[in-house]
Amino acid sequence: MRSLEELTRPNIWHLAPYSSARNEYSGHVARVFLDANENPYNKPFNRYPDPLQKELKERISKVKGVHPDCIFLGNGSDEAIDLPYRCFTRPGIDNVVAIEPTYGMYKVCADINDVEYRPVLLDDHFQMSANKLLDACDRNTKLIWICSPNNPTGNNMNREEIIRVLNEFDGLVIVDEAYSDFSAERSLRHELKEYPNLIVLQTFSKAWECAAIRLGMAFACKEIVDIYNKVKYPYNVNLLTQQQALEALKDPYEVDKWIKLLLQERRQLMENFRLLPICKKVYPTDANFFLAKMTDAQKIYDYLVREGIIVRNRSRISLCQDCLRITIGTKSENTELMAALRKY
Ligand SMILES: *Cc1c(COP(=O)(O)O)cnc(C)c1O
Repeated sequence: MRSLEELTRPNIWHLAPYSSARNEYSGHVARVFLDANENPYNKPFNRYPDPLQKELKERISKVKGVHPDCIFLGNGSDEAIDLPYRCFTRPGIDNVVAIEPTYGMYKVCADINDVEYRPVLLDDHFQMSANKLLDACDRNTKLIWICSPNNPTGNNMNREEIIRVLNEFDGLVIVDEAYSDFSAERSLRHELKEYPNLIVLQTFSKAWECAAIRLGMAFACKEIVDIYNKVKYPYNVNLLTQQQALEALKDPYEVDKWIKLLLQERRQLMENFRLLPICKKVYPTDANFFLAKMTDAQKIYDYLVREGIIVRNRSRISLCQDCLRITIGTKSENTELMAALRKY
């Protein structure tokens, strides 16, 4: 691996971060806060929230088995996807490599940051090849994006291939595990010590049923998290979000119950799709959605919209011609979808 100094944008490496009022006194017990120009009334919303979300990270640390120093929390995964561009890639010079098709935000953030984005096609089984990804890299490749389970295809990327990329790429490898709670595959966040170039993304938006609070997680070595903490907005995770996440974390086993239920529903819904004459193929999945190849995805999508049912039309995405992406809903939502499709 190239050193973190070599991988980091020179201006970021040398950045003197903003020091917020709430950072400077740390280590002491304080009673009177006259440092941040806040209004003393309207507790608790008058106060700036903890810029490093210490209490929340302690809780997440226990649930996820990752040291608090190796956790970054952001305004959704969106922030954790944008930050590596802003920290590591020089606009107009550096590039990133990614599996294709995959989640659209990696490319949007590359475009916003004026960084070349190099997509590398998956094979017919939606599997990645470490060789192909590595072949697409050059001296200016800073990041490789892997999403597993992948969106929109739903399947896990082959673990040996991911490990090969981690071992052989001398830049940073970001593995987006937004859907890993639905998969039996072990999360790569447990391998951080093994791979200093690994960044794992997870989120409160999917299995944790908290998309509205906007909370994303990045797990990485402390040195990378320290760089993120320098560059992020000082109060990037607001108090309401921190409180609501602590509430959700009170009963992590509740999440397992939802996951089990959704996986049962998924099996049923996929089964029903296979029996539809308008469905040509249902792809295997490790997530809370699946991809289905239809006879005419656009027409079926339009029909469903008229019926008040919204699925995702992925038919213009590479390798996904005539594919709809179906999120698993409640039993009654899934039943409604099937009733509409049988009438089509
Ligand atoms: C839904 C999703 C996310 C979650 O994004 P948030 O900003 O945390 O809501 C991240 N990555 C992928 C691949 C997703 O599909």
